[in-house]
Order: sequence, then structure tokens, then C-alpha cells
Amino acid sequence: MTKALLLIDIQNGFCPGGNLPVADGDAVVAVANRLIETGGYDLVIASQDWHPANHGSFASQHPGKKPFDMGELSGQPQVMWPDHCVQGTLDAEFHPDLHVSRVDYVQRKGENPDVDSYSAFRDNDKSALTGLSDWLTSKNVTELDLMGLATDYCVRFSALDAIDMLPGVKVRLIADGCRGIDPNGVEQALAAMADAGVEIIESSHIVS
Ligand SMILES: [Zn+2]
Repeated sequence: MTKALLLIDIQNGFCPGGNLPVADGDAVVAVANRLIETGGYDLVIASQDWHPANHGSFASQHPGKKPFDMGELSGQPQVMWPDHCVQGTLDAEFHPDLHVSRVDYVQRKGENPDVDSYSAFRDNDKSALTGLSDWLTSKNVTELDLMGLATDYCVRFSALDAIDMLPGVKVRLIADGCRGIDPNGVEQALAAMADAGVEIIESSHIVS
């Protein structure tokens, strides 16, 4: 039995003061650290949104679009985001309080400017894989717990892909270790994850 913790995008860009801040996003850092230190995990993985400056999910790349408008990217509907988590910038770095030295593997995503990548496992068009599912399989991971930012986008898509791409692996979402962008979106995300077979738990279930 190999237990892994997957931390989704706990980066400056998604915390207060960042370019795409999630309300109260930095509150997940303490939860992550508690789980890292005393959660009994064999492996800790962190995903990192890692965009080139001209990424097509940025409203700045679409004349006439404002952040949070709907637009299109490579023919698919796409939320137009503020520029965020640009490679090599402070915005893309992990939150400074996160115990990054205890992370065994960092999975970067969102490097292709022509497609967004909410999931840590594959691009939104489901074609290009990041390699994370193969890595977890090579480590014989049997249980995967996820948490991070944001519940209604990157956490949701990562959890659903984990169910889809890692058959036989028990997938749990640590709800108090997540924060979302839109309250309705968060509710829908939790329902979609539960429907797909993700067990929704609190960190107090694992650590005190
Ligand atoms: Zn992004």
C-alpha cells in the first residue's frame, strides 16, 4: 500500500496578493504542511501552473477580452484569466510557507500556449499527458489524497482525471485543504467529484 498526497497549485499566484487570487487561498498552506509532516504519506507531489508569458488562457492575448470573460482557445470555450503563474516569476513560485523541501515530485503544467491545463494529469483537450499518472503508477500508488487551489478548476479536474486515469486507486479530496473561485462552482465541483467516486473528507480525519 503506497499513500500519496497531491498538492494542487499552492502557488503565490492563487493566494491573496497573487495575480489570480483565490479568497483565503493561503489558508490551505497550514493544512498542507500538517498533512506533509504528520499525515503518514509515502510520497508528496505538488503540481505547479507554469505558463509561458503568451499563454492563450490569458485575456491579455485576446484583443477586446477582459479577465473572467468567456472566450475561445484553439476552438474550445475558455475562461479568459488574468496573466498568472508565468514561468520564472514570483507569481509562479510555491507559497513561501509551504514545506517544499518535503515534496518528492513537482509536476508542472500549462506550458503549451495553445491549450489550458487545469488538471495535473493532462491538458484540457485530454490529448497531451503531463506524465503524472505514469509516475504514480511506477511508484505503485494505491491511495491518492488531493487538496489545493482552486476547488472548482484545477482541483476538480485533477480529481476527476485521477479517477479516470488511475483505475483501482482510492482517491480522496481533503475539503478543508481546498479553496475555490466561485461558490456555485465549488458546490458543483464537490458534487461532480463525489459522483465520480472521489471520497470527500476533512483533514481532521487524517491528522489532529
Ligand atoms: Zn493557469
